[in-house]
Amino acid sequence: SCVSSDGSKSHRKRSKVTVLKGLLPGEDSVRSAAEQALKQFGNSVDEPIQLVDLGNVQSQIQLWKKHLPNVRPHYAVKCCPNKQIIKQLRDGGCGFDCATMQEISTVLELGVTPADIVYSHPCKPRSHIAFAKSQGISLMSFDNDVELRKVAAVYPEAQLLLRVVCEDSSAQCPMSLKFGAKRDTWATLLDIIQELQLNLAGVSFHVGSGCKDPETFEPALADAREVFRMASERGMKALRVLDIGGGYPGDRAGYEEIAPVIAEKLARLFPESEFPELTRIAEPGRFFAANSGHLLTKVYAKAKLPATDGSGEQVCRYYLNDGLYGSFNCIIYDHVAVLPEPIRRVDGEEVPCALFGPTCDGFDVVLEKHRMPELEEGDWILWRNMGAYTSAAGCNFNGFPLALSWYYRLPAYDADRVSGDLSLSDAGVDTTDGRHGSVPPRLIGSRLGRHGGCCSDVKFE
Ligand code: PLP
Repeated sequence: SCVSSDGSKSHRKRSKVTVLKGLLPGEDSVRSAAEQALKQFGNSVDEPIQLVDLGNVQSQIQLWKKHLPNVRPHYAVKCCPNKQIIKQLRDGGCGFDCATMQEISTVLELGVTPADIVYSHPCKPRSHIAFAKSQGISLMSFDNDVELRKVAAVYPEAQLLLRVVCEDSSAQCPMSLKFGAKRDTWATLLDIIQELQLNLAGVSFHVGSGCKDPETFEPALADAREVFRMASERGMKALRVLDIGGGYPGDRAGYEEIAPVIAEKLARLFPESEFPELTRIAEPGRFFAANSGHLLTKVYAKAKLPATDGSGEQVCRYYLNDGLYGSFNCIIYDHVAVLPEPIRRVDGEEVPCALFGPTCDGFDVVLEKHRMPELEEGDWILWRNMGAYTSAAGCNFNGFPLALSWYYRLPAYDADRVSGDLSLSDAGVDTTDGRHGSVPPRLIGSRLGRHGGCCSDVKFE
């Protein structure tokens, strides 16, 4: 029951997880998940569907531990604030990297303890710092003197991480233009910390999201070590936290390549023998989320027009139910190239097409020029590895909803590992996350009701 002790009706909804059984070795589990989700909901929903592979979240935790066992990952919530993903990570022993009061609230509401949170935004509104204080979240980063004075006024007990700048020009999303203290400011910042009697807990850095070169960790770690030396030279209390940030790829092969290199550098620059008490943490977001989400979009409208290049060909214009203002904002902000995979196996020659997002904005173009066999209105398209920095940064422009979440896992990760309020069943489209279910609740509620009533305990407005 969702009636709480004070008698009020809770809006909490239970999510369900599909276990993909009967997969043959080598079979494409993402496509199977897509087909199963569409079998259950394809004809009845007009919203995009995010397939969330909770088993992948678990296997990523194991993969992380394989190469960086002494570095505790703090999931960067900004990357995909999906509550079921957060719960998997919480249960898997991860901490959390939050950048705002809202992200802090999200994880606290899911039972995460304040000590497991690093407040990683180097530039924070005063009200958010005060909130962190009220919740007992003390570990937070900074990279400038103004921030130090603000912290001194609002939360002088905070445990500070000096975020040093990194050379990150080869990263998919560099950050050094905006964040990180330059070397020539470190001494002054340490002076101010001593003068204001603040607590320096350690050092953090971020080599840029989508880091392509593990060698960028070498100067970053050397810089961190230099700050440790400078603090010690000034007689400051021994630094006890090293935060090696994000930057890790979401695909297994990419991580297997980069992580051992990072581990070697870490062991050399911060050896256990010399820093036995040091807490080593990281802030991976993409690593956990990227391959844990796959997107399904529907062709909800179509037009066929002569090509303007004089080729005499007809070009299909497909209008999808997700676009640049939704999940595909990743094309702009995360600089990714996306690839459509039609679900229905269509024979026939490839024809030129353009794929558009649903809004009235002419800029809302997902793929301007593409070729594939001709699709029809009602066809669905799969887009793989769309879990990181997709719906997290999407909006409801023009009234179009963000993707619904449909949860699944492979049998290897089923029943006994499921916890929290996840329940195994044959199907589930989640409406629990504000972001992931911002469609009119009535619509989804009635539809879910038709499919087994998993939301019968939900009060719809
Ligand atoms: N930590 C901070 C402070 C960030 O700004 C970000 C991404 O923007 C992350 C962690 C996550 O990094 P990644 O996307 O490389 O996993």
